[in-house]
Amino acid sequence: MPHKVFSKSAPKADITKLPKLGMEKKHITADFKHYYSHRLGRDENCRSPHYAYEALSLTISDRLVERWKKTYNVYRDEDCKKAFYLSMEFLMGRSLSNAMLNLGIDDEVNKALYGMGLEAEELLESEPDAGLGNGGLGRLAACFIDSCATLQLPVTGYGLRYEYGMFTQEIVNGEQVEKPDHWLRNGNVWEIERPEYMTRVKFGGHTQSHIDEHGNRRTSWVDTHDVLAMPYDTPVPGYKNGTVNTLRLWKAIATEEFNLQEFNAGDYAEAVAQKNTAENITMVLYPNDANENGKALRLQQQYLLASASLQDVIANWVGRHGRNFSKFAEKNCFQLNDTHPSIAVAELMRLLMDIHGLSWNEAWSITRKTMAYTNHTLLPEALEKWSVNLMQNLLPRLMEIIFEINAHFLAEVSAHWPGESERLTRMSLIEEGHVKQVRMAYLAIVGSFSVNGVAELHSKLLKEGLFKDFYELWPDKFNNKTNGVTPRRWLAGCNPELAEFITATIGDAWITDLSQLIRLKPYAEDAAFRKTWRDLNQASKQRLVDFKKAELDVDINVDALFDVQVKRIHEYKRQMLNVLHVIHLYDRIKRGDTQNWVARCVLIGGKAAPGYVMAKKIIKLINNVASVINNDPDVGDKLKLVFLPNYRVSAMEKICPGADLSEQISTAGKEASGTGNMKFMMNGSLTIGTLDGANIEIREEVGEENFFLFGLTEAEVEALRPNYNPQSYIDQDGDLQGVMHLLECGHFNQFEPGIFDDVIGAIKSPHDPWMTIADFRSYVDAQRRVDQAWRDQEYWTKMSIINTAASGKFSTDRTIGDYNREIWNLSPIDVNSK
Ligand SMILES: *Cc1c(COP(=O)(O)O)cnc(C)c1O
Repeated sequence: MPHKVFSKSAPKADITKLPKLGMEKKHITADFKHYYSHRLGRDENCRSPHYAYEALSLTISDRLVERWKKTYNVYRDEDCKKAFYLSMEFLMGRSLSNAMLNLGIDDEVNKALYGMGLEAEELLESEPDAGLGNGGLGRLAACFIDSCATLQLPVTGYGLRYEYGMFTQEIVNGEQVEKPDHWLRNGNVWEIERPEYMTRVKFGGHTQSHIDEHGNRRTSWVDTHDVLAMPYDTPVPGYKNGTVNTLRLWKAIATEEFNLQEFNAGDYAEAVAQKNTAENITMVLYPNDANENGKALRLQQQYLLASASLQDVIANWVGRHGRNFSKFAEKNCFQLNDTHPSIAVAELMRLLMDIHGLSWNEAWSITRKTMAYTNHTLLPEALEKWSVNLMQNLLPRLMEIIFEINAHFLAEVSAHWPGESERLTRMSLIEEGHVKQVRMAYLAIVGSFSVNGVAELHSKLLKEGLFKDFYELWPDKFNNKTNGVTPRRWLAGCNPELAEFITATIGDAWITDLSQLIRLKPYAEDAAFRKTWRDLNQASKQRLVDFKKAELDVDINVDALFDVQVKRIHEYKRQMLNVLHVIHLYDRIKRGDTQNWVARCVLIGGKAAPGYVMAKKIIKLINNVASVINNDPDVGDKLKLVFLPNYRVSAMEKICPGADLSEQISTAGKEASGTGNMKFMMNGSLTIGTLDGANIEIREEVGEENFFLFGLTEAEVEALRPNYNPQSYIDQDGDLQGVMHLLECGHFNQFEPGIFDDVIGAIKSPHDPWMTIADFRSYVDAQRRVDQAWRDQEYWTKMSIINTAASGKFSTDRTIGDYNREIWNLSPIDVNSK
């Protein structure tokens, strides 16, 4: 909306009309110098790369904003159907190099920097990661919006602008120490604050009902403590297509009248403290991955996201269509990234009824046609529940609406299954018991027209287990959308040398159509091609080592097999199984069992949730084992174990091109999909993995002969569970006895007695849910097959090429194509042609 600042007498002019910005070296150079010296006020004596980073980012950002406005105007003029991706997390990483790549000006920028005597590498490294997510779920959201823009789909991301993102991990004496991540400290050139779209969000208070002028009963929510949601927009560029979509993140700020009462009563300090309470809502990202966050502040975050985003979309609708909502569901779709934003179901009902006067039936019909829900986990502890008590206090009107949704829903269940009272109890949105709780996943299912899992196995298990009753009631709602990763960041951007080689071989269409990579497959038979492939991989390994050299005090041999497991530290992901194998290799070296030895460098990285005691103990164990192995002269180059601190998006961009072996070793049935597995595959790593999540589909695509499979299947895990006896595996396996002996005799904690008793106890327990010991033998055998394959480097390289060639399915362009065809039904809009 233009501000009304125009003079009545002056001639009409368009103050937003500007000449097109140049994309060549000379234009980039001129703008860079302008920003560096005039806007930032620096001169040639400034040594910090930060200001060069800022000047270049402002230069690039101008070119994004130019296309962003065009995109916005085209979408507005078309009045097209739109989708909104609601997510508590967007793990974006860095923006500058991605923006350069997607605008197609990386070459010209590099020439410009070179011309000014600047080192591109150092400048790019000074950008902090936007770490507004924990792991896979948040990174998926970031890959999704990249693909939406590349596919020219009108999709907006909605999330929260946390002041503090994912904590920075430091390792002190082998233990994780968390440092706050104040990522906005030096400002953020990629965002634009938009006070004109600020919205008001209510908390607390109580409800009142009255009869309106048409004789209808209406409810209002009064005496509330309001918070303002300030939007910050970040441009999301498509790949060389002129489309720039929007990521809109909300920041909580106090209302201006917040302090009036207190202020008048003279309690100024109390009033200011209250202001802080409001602004705390978006202060920090909860650092728990796949885990419950039961705190009131977390519910406030969720509601702020849902309410501000829905109000924003509705305000836009009303601005154009007035209060006629008859076509709202045809033109809008909300995709809920897990249950975190599922309060949106009740909030849309509230806004349509209480604010816009629709009846229950009208509002419900719209809600059920516009909401779609993606489930991300089978772990029961990650299924969110909120106590009815808390919800009644914090969101009383929403609680009323949820009760009413539940009443209508249970009537539907009764009609479908008359007399089945147990089923009613099972399916109710309200869990009865000592503390009544709202089952948020059920609210999401009941309020949506689509429910999807994120890999074939995961979607199947949802239908058979967790959501069985709902599947029986509404089989057509359930579908699968196997995850992916964006090939821009995860191949073209992070591995430019390999990308260039691929382009020289098959052309560059793969960047937006990853299925083209299959054309590399015949080259696996070409010895010269293999030689270059191996050289490029070796160079990536060297870069990874050089990059890490400063922070690690180990000498790494780049001829060793780089065996990599990076992901959040969680028992179900079984970093412990990896450690058991490393200890076994160490035991073999000490026993002199080293015939045909394959030198390995095992790299493990990941953050543990600060309150997850067992995960933190596993980090300590990895570091202790590393220090024993790396300092033992008998071991030498044969084996290294390295913990990579502060795993994050920008770290993964260096790690995945340099890996030989990708560890995807979760207990079958526990990893919903995984996406790290896909990044590694795309970059030519081979996978050692269980039949879990998307590993199954990776193996299908690449062929079983090019994948190192081990472990129990999901069905075998569940069948074994009642009689699981880890001791019997130990008794029958000399290798495992050797490993357990080293652990239990305190070999890795000589001066810290007893510190690993609980991790050892956990894997030896018959109740170990992750059944690590059960898969030890088959894992070690699979690792033997890895060694055997590695010894024949030509054979290994063939498999590596075939892995990249077969990775086409795992592009988020394919995933988003599926979402659009089967859930959203948006028409692509070519902004350039308008
Ligand atoms: C891809 C990615 C993940 C997800 O890894 P998984 O192995 O699928 O758990 C987590 N964190 C970061 C920083 C990532 O880039």
